[in-house]
Amino acid sequence: MPEGLEAEIWRAAIEVTVGRTITDASVDERVAPPGFASIVRDLRITAVRRAGKVVLVDTDGPTIGLHFGMTGRVVVDGSAPIERLSYASGRDEAEWNRLCLWTGSTDQPPAVRFNDPRRFGHVSLDPDLSRLGPDMFVIKPSELHAVLARRRSAVKAALLDQHVVAGLGNLCVDELLWWAGIAPHRAGDDVTVEEVRRLIGVMRRRLRVMLRRGGSTTGVIDPRVRSELPDCPRDGAPLRRARIGSRTTVWCAAHQR
Ligand SMILES: [Zn+2]
Repeated sequence: MPEGLEAEIWRAAIEVTVGRTITDASVDERVAPPGFASIVRDLRITAVRRAGKVVLVDTDGPTIGLHFGMTGRVVVDGSAPIERLSYASGRDEAEWNRLCLWTGSTDQPPAVRFNDPRRFGHVSLDPDLSRLGPDMFVIKPSELHAVLARRRSAVKAALLDQHVVAGLGNLCVDELLWWAGIAPHRAGDDVTVEEVRRLIGVMRRRLRVMLRRGGSTTGVIDPRVRSELPDCPRDGAPLRRARIGSRTTVWCAAHQR
């Protein structure tokens, strides 16, 4: 499913619309607040931000939130920043459009088109994001260690909790723990300050690399690896798979301790 990295790629793509005015909107009313289309019509787009996995389109009226769910994606001015998510259908059907925002003639492709085959995503107005934790790109070791120290649950589950750190999803957490050499089932309060520092260092480097490569599916523990389970590329031990916090988790028992 789309993670903070995908949201960041879409945020950057939607930035070309800043300064434009929304001339028309069509929305799937099952996934939007009542009256959404008439509220956003004639608003001017002033900024595009990201909060965790949510893209925020600021206007001179309310802020529009794009929540991607499991299979949502964005097409900007007719071109898709991420052509195909490996966990989603490669097809693009008009009936999957949940939101179209035009900033010119409706004969042209929409400036922003939110397409979501499975309809777990939604759009919002002025979403309340006050409970989100610090963002994955800026969280400090002291902040993360303070939260983990109060958690008995698995470090993997803690990192997936958007109140702890905003933006990480299942693929990125497995990837970061693999690089940091931390076993995913370790209790949060068992992870040392030194290990948290190492983990944050890995986050700073690897998230940037994956962002450049195209998102959360571009790591060592990528979706193909998850189904075939080859040996660990670091030490040759067989990778293992288990469910932790209801999410499929892949790790190496040899170097992740
Ligand atoms: Zn290994």
